[in-house]
Amino acid sequence: MSYPIKLSPQLKTKSGKDITIGIGTGTQWKRPIDKLEGKNYSEELVNQLLFALDSGFNHIDTAEVYETQPAVGEAIKRTKIPREDLFITSKYNGGFLTFKAQSKSGKESVDKALRELGTDYIDLFLIHSPFFTTELSHGHTLEDIWKDLIEAKKEGKIREIGISNAAIPHLERLFAVSPGKEFYPKVNQIEFHAFLQNQSKDIVKYSQDHNILVEAFSPLSPITRAENKALNPFLKELSTEYKKTEAQILLRYILQRGVLPITTSANKDRIKQSLDLYDFELSDKEVEEIEKIGKENPFRAFFHEAFKNL
Ligand code: NDP
Repeated sequence: MSYPIKLSPQLKTKSGKDITIGIGTGTQWKRPIDKLEGKNYSEELVNQLLFALDSGFNHIDTAEVYETQPAVGEAIKRTKIPREDLFITSKYNGGFLTFKAQSKSGKESVDKALRELGTDYIDLFLIHSPFFTTELSHGHTLEDIWKDLIEAKKEGKIREIGISNAAIPHLERLFAVSPGKEFYPKVNQIEFHAFLQNQSKDIVKYSQDHNILVEAFSPLSPITRAENKALNPFLKELSTEYKKTEAQILLRYILQRGVLPITTSANKDRIKQSLDLYDFELSDKEVEEIEKIGKENPFRAFFHEAFKNL
């Protein structure tokens, strides 16, 4: 086994540039609306996004449910970087547990995203999670929403379509209602890090075998969220060997698994660091040691119950 960086497919901006790792606007960026001083976006987030774009990121991850589409729209408006050199992802959420879908359909969610982002196309639009019921989603099934996204792609509102948190049976359901391979999902954005190498059974290999790019959310969990610090001594060793931070080692490991990380930080040095991943390479033995320690110390940050039998 060898682990060169190979992302398949390699997604591109409309102008044809390879996309970088993603800068996320969920998790720590969700703010109660009354903290936004009368605006519908956080000035801090807009500034952080502008800094990330100036540092070399071209790929921003947002979602209807994060309420950060307006902030991303503001960053798109203020940056000098042309829209076609950026890659913007957003997501429809059909509800989960007790919260209901905000939009009444996939179409409504896409149109709202276009409005809030202030752009006439979105590069990638995902179904945020397949775990919604018709009660939560204003009567829609996963298949109904997928057909809405296919329509939006045909209309040119969306360049690529995909899903997040999908297990193999969910991907099979999308294949079954897609009118041809060009409408199969291009991306499956899942929780992926050293302590969770498969969010559901065999999902990474299956997605990659079907030419679906796997994106990793919460890539830094082994040093941030997980209480178990079993990987820390080895990360420290690698950090000294390659003169990189432990976060950089974790992100590089993910890239060498052919997975594209979505990370975030409110700290400027960390934002810069997270792009500086291309002048070193972990050996196959080191990747395998990270995976061995990771498998012995499983940790999942999101969707515990949903994946119980998947
Ligand atoms: P990460 O694992 O990258 O965690 C980010 C956190 O790590 C931040 O709180 C940051 O804190 C800290 N951090 C960043 N750099 C470093 C560093 N060098 N050393 C130590 N700590 C560091 O990702 P998230 O879990 O935040 O998820 C990223 C994005 O993925 C979200 O914003 C969202 O867009 C997406 N996401 C998607 C989900 C889905 O269901 N599809 C679910 C969850 C997330 P600090 O600000 O202090 O640097």
